[in-house]
Amino acid sequence: FTSRNITKAKTTCSYCGVGCGMEVSIDKKGKIELEGIEDHPVNRGMLCSKGRNLNYVVQDQSDRLLHPEMRWSKNHPLQKVDWDTAIDRAAAVFKTFIEKHGPDSVGFYVSGQCLTEEYYLVNKLTKGYIGTNNVDTNSRLCMSSAVMGYVKTLGEDSVPISYEDIEIADTFLIAGANPAWCHPILFRRIEQHKEKNPDTKIIVIDPRVTDSCSLADLHLQLRPGTDITLLQAIGRVLIENGNIDLDFIQNHADGFEAYKGEVFNTTLEDAALICDVPVDDIKLAAQYIGNAKAYLSMWTMGLNQSTQGVNNNLALINLNLITGHIGKPGSGPFSLTGQPNAMGGREVGGMASLLAAHRKQASPEDRQEVADFWGVDSVPDKPGLTATQMFDALDSGELKAIWIICTNPSVSMPDATLVDRAMKKAKFVIVQDISRKSDTVKYADLVLPAAGWLEKEGTMTNSERRISYLPKMVDAPGEALPDNEILLRFAKKMGYKGFDFENTEVIYREHCALTKGTNIDISGLNYDRLKKEGSVQWPVPSEGHQGTPRLFEDKQFYTPNKKAQILTTGVSNDADMLSEDFPLILTTGRIRDQWHTMTRTGKVSKLNKHIAKPYLEIHPKDAEKRDITEGTPVVVTGSRGEVKVTATLTEKIKRGVVFLPMHWGKILNSDFGRANNLTNKAFDPISKQPGFKYSAVQVEKF
Ligand code: SF4
Repeated sequence: FTSRNITKAKTTCSYCGVGCGMEVSIDKKGKIELEGIEDHPVNRGMLCSKGRNLNYVVQDQSDRLLHPEMRWSKNHPLQKVDWDTAIDRAAAVFKTFIEKHGPDSVGFYVSGQCLTEEYYLVNKLTKGYIGTNNVDTNSRLCMSSAVMGYVKTLGEDSVPISYEDIEIADTFLIAGANPAWCHPILFRRIEQHKEKNPDTKIIVIDPRVTDSCSLADLHLQLRPGTDITLLQAIGRVLIENGNIDLDFIQNHADGFEAYKGEVFNTTLEDAALICDVPVDDIKLAAQYIGNAKAYLSMWTMGLNQSTQGVNNNLALINLNLITGHIGKPGSGPFSLTGQPNAMGGREVGGMASLLAAHRKQASPEDRQEVADFWGVDSVPDKPGLTATQMFDALDSGELKAIWIICTNPSVSMPDATLVDRAMKKAKFVIVQDISRKSDTVKYADLVLPAAGWLEKEGTMTNSERRISYLPKMVDAPGEALPDNEILLRFAKKMGYKGFDFENTEVIYREHCALTKGTNIDISGLNYDRLKKEGSVQWPVPSEGHQGTPRLFEDKQFYTPNKKAQILTTGVSNDADMLSEDFPLILTTGRIRDQWHTMTRTGKVSKLNKHIAKPYLEIHPKDAEKRDITEGTPVVVTGSRGEVKVTATLTEKIKRGVVFLPMHWGKILNSDFGRANNLTNKAFDPISKQPGFKYSAVQVEKF
């Protein structure tokens, strides 16, 4: 472990999309300490349990990948090789497949934890040079329905609000999210705001009584998969009560009459039955929103991870639009980003369906503009494979080689058994990661050790469009390299021009230049400015520009006619059909002190104390029917597989619904509790985001 000259620096937490500021110091012996930055606009000195313990993750290098490793054929074990051999092999394999089967025979599966510069490079590499749009990210599993919700209603993927709106709002709707555990510092800000302003109303929509309900004035404990019906019922009451903003609807939005027609198709009584929520509670929710002077809606995976994820988003955003609660202080639809740099990835067009700086992949002009900027003939028009499609294509043999960066699909993808099979069948798998404890490493033909947080520099963008610079403070262990460096070595070996970046800052400058003239213009930003001034919210179109906390204050949206779109959604139930064999709805989610597949948080004993083992939450009545008591070992079965786990009985979960945390995989727990054995890879037709939150299962003792 080698520390660099920098012994004290400001940086950003690398876990969730909240983006808390930290000051990190390193003493002469290399001991790392950290604390929240007191005057940081995001966290004001606070850190949650995960962030507070990030120093231990960097210092415990016991699981780190230290050298490139390679197997010469599928039957051979991985063995240590030098970087030249590793990069030569990667380039030789990719060239062979591209020449023999075309550029669509290879793909990259990356991560919302990549830094923006890394995301930028991998996109330029695939879309500009390899000639395929087969680059997708685990943000597909997390944010893509919200992206399309914003695109359809506001014209672009643009989070309109700023965190400072939390302290202005007087009414919150938190739908399909548990920020008390998953976005703790934002939740703490809401909590503090309510402490100071007890009349603030908080509505929570969730099939479980989560810790976020501790603040709720109203908890709508709906049946999973019925969000659209519930949100439309609230919309209906708002219209009936006249609690809508006619000026906004008439002058700044399209589509109200069609929306009104749709929401009036279902009576409140029918909606209440469908959602299993009392009529009076629907009315009360509408009353709170109708009386609001500043209404902030927040949501995340509960709405996004659905086969109707985009329509869930539209139904929620419609409530902001019909009440005119957007583009003004304390108001707006605010999608809580899961990962620390999911937003940065979206800025560079880091998905199979996106182009840089929110340009449209379907537009020939936009594609040519990007191609011209990169100095290549064209950017491919054929949409790339999205996350789940990539693993299907590996399984079918259509995709020959996959390069996986900074993500662990063997644990995190839905229908994980299929994902394991697909990686076994793949002709060539490259895994670029920091940890040997990633379950995906065992499928690798080539393992590339990467540098982690504090070991490389770059930028990230949080949920409120705030861009921060993260400095390199220590050297990576062994021969691990920054992801940028690995990608640049590969690009050069492939013979691609356009990758002569002498350092990370030059990559960032190119990314900023490509945003010029777009709605996310950050051409006024550079590393010097970020280092000197701290974080800034985009757009930042000129050097003197101070950034943009709130969008759409002029009520001019990014749609062709500048009006927001109130859209009908249709109503359908969610994916899997319940049956006699599989009568329970499985929903999955996070726990407070773990992050994703636990390759980092799982190393910290303090964090493991919160909840040490996977568990199944089941309602006592559902448990009684199955002769299950607290702590009983159970097997959860579904059409895709099974999970063995112990039962936890709680009335906090709705009857007919069971819950599994999503963190545990085979390495950390011998397949005991790997939730994604059961989840459904069926996805939303528009966002291609899979429906993790609704799988039909049975639970029995074993
Ligand atoms: Fe890190 Fe998120 Fe916790 Fe902030 S809230 S310290 S960004 S994990």
